[in-house]
Amino acid sequence: MNKFIFISGGVCSSLGKGVAASSIGALLEGRGLNVRMVKCDPYINVDAGTMSPYQHGEVYVTDDGAETDLDLGNYARFTSGHLSKANSVTTGQVYESVIRKEREGRYLGRCVQVIPHITDEIKSRITAVAREDPDTDVVIVEIGGTVGDIESIPFLESARQMIHEAGKSNAISVHLTLIPEVAGGELKTKPTQHSVKAMQEQGIQPDILICRAPVMLNETTRRKIALFTNMENDSVFTSYDISTTIYEIPLIFFEQKLDQVVLKKLGVESRHANLGAWKTMMENFNSRKGKVRIGIVGKYMSLHDAYKSVYEALFHAGLETGVEVELVKIDSARLEETDNADNVLGSQAADGGVDGVLVPGGFGQRGINGMIKAAQWARKNKVPYFGICLGMQIMVIDWGRNVLGWDDADSTEFNQNTKHPVVSLLEEQEEVINYGGTMRLGKWESVTEPGSRIFAAYREKNIWERHRHRYEFSNRYRGDMAESGLLLTAFIPDKTLVECVEWPDHPWGLGVQFHPEFKSKPTAASPLFRDFVAAARDRKQI
Ligand code: GLN
Repeated sequence: MNKFIFISGGVCSSLGKGVAASSIGALLEGRGLNVRMVKCDPYINVDAGTMSPYQHGEVYVTDDGAETDLDLGNYARFTSGHLSKANSVTTGQVYESVIRKEREGRYLGRCVQVIPHITDEIKSRITAVAREDPDTDVVIVEIGGTVGDIESIPFLESARQMIHEAGKSNAISVHLTLIPEVAGGELKTKPTQHSVKAMQEQGIQPDILICRAPVMLNETTRRKIALFTNMENDSVFTSYDISTTIYEIPLIFFEQKLDQVVLKKLGVESRHANLGAWKTMMENFNSRKGKVRIGIVGKYMSLHDAYKSVYEALFHAGLETGVEVELVKIDSARLEETDNADNVLGSQAADGGVDGVLVPGGFGQRGINGMIKAAQWARKNKVPYFGICLGMQIMVIDWGRNVLGWDDADSTEFNQNTKHPVVSLLEEQEEVINYGGTMRLGKWESVTEPGSRIFAAYREKNIWERHRHRYEFSNRYRGDMAESGLLLTAFIPDKTLVECVEWPDHPWGLGVQFHPEFKSKPTAASPLFRDFVAAARDRKQI
């Protein structure tokens, strides 16, 4: 029988519900359980693919090509259970399928309602994740939003029903709240009491409370909270503010024995806890020496979440290479305005310049010329450069314009009339077969060339990484590019698409058509991020 943990939040948003859910997942995996994570998002969009990165942060892509909410990225960094389209459930998807069934007459003329039809659809999507893998022990379901929101009600009602149907020893509720500090340093428990009342009004008595607080709550406060919220004394935990890293949270919960209480409540026999990888990660964190400054040149710089997985992967790379990675966010418009990239990136920049340049993925023309300047600057000054998806296409455009001397070299995404479409849609490239869909999405295999930097990073010939793009390196320019020195170092197995380019005579200049950031973990950094940060570190002679 599968066990379910429903994680809800109260008082306000941004308390770290996703990290709490993922940390519980990590702890249960440490106890040898097979964990699957599900995110229920109350918004009406069907998926995150069409949402603006300004509003919603990055689109996280799974192996099967689902364009999901960035929360799935958190799950992937903390836990190892398979993630696919099925792990993200939005109100939009739920209504879309209920309305489709209604149109098909599948409800036999009955009146279609939120309860039971919407809630049944939610429940069936959650249990489908459990059923997908027969070895699943626990499904952790994170319910987006805050208790009391109109939008979350159907999800909380579905959780209530599942807890009722599965029985208390098979399904539990974990509720995350805030304990604010008021003037004078006093910690206030009232908002938490109200939040639990709001849960009780939804028919759910939380089994475990996690209180987000500035400091570890003392025994007296925890007992008081337990008394007023109808909880067992051992079931109130603190997620206190930390100055280290969110990846320490599993260990902070472990110290408080949160996983033992979860196992006890779910009736799972306690087993040995193996958190070795997390402990090693924290040892690496504490023994980092020196700092490298990585300039990220993109167009969504004001919102941290827009390149969330890239930033996290850089942090992971720092853990493995023994340095702190400082993120220097550079709006590519700034480079467009200057006629000397040195003023923004080099040692005469006001902030002292960068030790490496990363151009991440992106869509649309805005800021492109600034990115090309950044690539050209890194190439000429032998500064480590890492291009991801659009960042690789930028390398190819720079090479076309500034090495081959084709001033109009471009991607047809930005200029359809160029005489030198060095990056273009597959359909525009006569010599390749058409793969169908408009976007290359999800997991694809690449074959790396021996002797290349990409091969040195993965130490493997055949690799699998995730894609999300429409445009490709134009095959008709392979000859010109290679003859002028650009190294083409990875391809899809039938060699019809280029997956990686590298600069010759350069310490580390590499671009990939895929997104390695999606598979990077704090306990195992992406090999390309690791080698890029190592190159920046070596350049700085740390
Ligand atoms: N806009 C480019 C394309 O569609 C790159 C996409 C990306 O960087 N994810 O090919």
